[in-house]
Amino acid sequence: MANCHLCGTYIAPREPHYRREVYSGSSSGVGLSWRGNAWWTGRRYTGIRTLCLACAQQVDAARAPGPRLLVLLAFVVLGVLAFALFH
Ligand SMILES: [Zn+2]
Repeated sequence: MANCHLCGTYIAPREPHYRREVYSGSSSGVGLSWRGNAWWTGRRYTGIRTLCLACAQQVDAARAPGPRLLVLLAFVVLGVLAFALFH
C-alpha cells in the first residue's frame, strides 16, 4: 500500500510507482560560535518519495529546462553572432 507523497492519491500495488527526488523541507537559522562569530545557515532537504503518474510528470516537467531558457540561449547566440559580424 502506497500513497503519492505530493497529492496523497492511493497507488494500487499493480499500478506503477514513480520514484522521484522531491523537496521535503528546509531549515535555517543563525548560529553563534564560541568565538563570537555569527553565521547564517540554510539547508534544503530532498528525498526519494513515491509519486503517482501525474505528480511524477510535474516533477519531470519542473526539472526539464523550459522554453524560456532556450529563448534566452538563442538570444545569447544571436548576440555573439551579431558581435562577430559587425565588429
Ligand atoms: Zn500525486
